[in-house]
Amino acid sequence: MERLYNFSAGPAALPLEVLQQARDELVNWQGCGMSVMEMSHRGKEYMGIQAQAEADLRELMGIPANYKVLFLQGGASSQFAMVPMNLYRGKASADFLNTGEWSKKAIHEALKYGAVNVVASSEDKNFTYAPTQDAWKLDPNAAYVHYTPNETIGGVEIFWTPDLAKLAGEVPLVADMSSTILSRPIDVSKFGLIYAGAQKNIGPAGLTLVIVREDLIGQVVPGTPTMFDYRTHSENGSMYNTPPTYGIYIAGLVFKLLKAKGGLAEMEKTNRLKAGLLYDCIDASGFYHSPVARENRSLMNIPFTLKDAALDEAFLNGAKARNLVQLKGHRLSGGMRASLYNAMPVEGVRALVEFMQEFERAHG
Ligand SMILES: *Cc1c(COP(=O)(O)O)cnc(C)c1O
Repeated sequence: MERLYNFSAGPAALPLEVLQQARDELVNWQGCGMSVMEMSHRGKEYMGIQAQAEADLRELMGIPANYKVLFLQGGASSQFAMVPMNLYRGKASADFLNTGEWSKKAIHEALKYGAVNVVASSEDKNFTYAPTQDAWKLDPNAAYVHYTPNETIGGVEIFWTPDLAKLAGEVPLVADMSSTILSRPIDVSKFGLIYAGAQKNIGPAGLTLVIVREDLIGQVVPGTPTMFDYRTHSENGSMYNTPPTYGIYIAGLVFKLLKAKGGLAEMEKTNRLKAGLLYDCIDASGFYHSPVARENRSLMNIPFTLKDAALDEAFLNGAKARNLVQLKGHRLSGGMRASLYNAMPVEGVRALVEFMQEFERAHG
């Protein structure tokens, strides 16, 4: 069977070049006589793979020297707990922006460790936009400010970085970047902590990336398990226990590829082109509809509805017949969702748009 155009929100498509290289190296990595999966994580081959992956990520994202890169497990969902365990640091309350389902989950978990002040919420409009910072009620004594720059389910993206300088620079900014990391350049120095599950834009499921400023490490709430203390992982080069070695290897191949393609500025250009093709198709039609406010339309996850939900199944079947798969919307939103992460080629989006136009002509 041919490879499909996979529009899944996650686990998502991986670049074909990466899969091919992994295939070629699967049973015997660079002539060392074994698979990366079989290597000791403390052996020199594997240590080299992980060090290179970290170096390439640091270069791609421009991560300053006073930040640690941690390769963890447990998904972004574990970070919903690990962040508060590590960052409340004796303070009473943390600030959260609520822009959708993932924000809500992060808030729910933080409430187990301290108070939460919701600085602003877009629930009034069914999470179809993000409140601008002038509407946020920030607490100058907050332990940290947490937000979700891209809500994967709602398709709501925030393209500006919150400015906490007014708070005397004392309050660190924390971002769940699971579905936006590596899609465009960001200024890491504006953040105290960034986390992301790998299975959207980094690599396979099972790896979770944390980028954390050093001074925020080491003040966990009492009773925090060793494995949930960032210090455990930062002091041991993410090798306190066995890291997800194969996932880190694949992520490393992705980082290399993105560098070879010109880095994150190039990714942003391509991602804007791809998302533009799809939004233009939606806007030009009276048949498809995007619920998201224009300034918050995600580059990565694009939910849309058809004029008549009774046509959804025919749409999905027609798409599938053209090798366009995983377009069904999240069960909470219904309709369709096309995820256009870095690994989705422009041709995949063009094929989707062509199909959508034809479907509209046939059923509009
Ligand atoms: C997918 C996703 C999560 C959950 O990630 P897991 O790795 O499955 O725990 C959390 N936040 C956002 C923004 C996501 O897209």
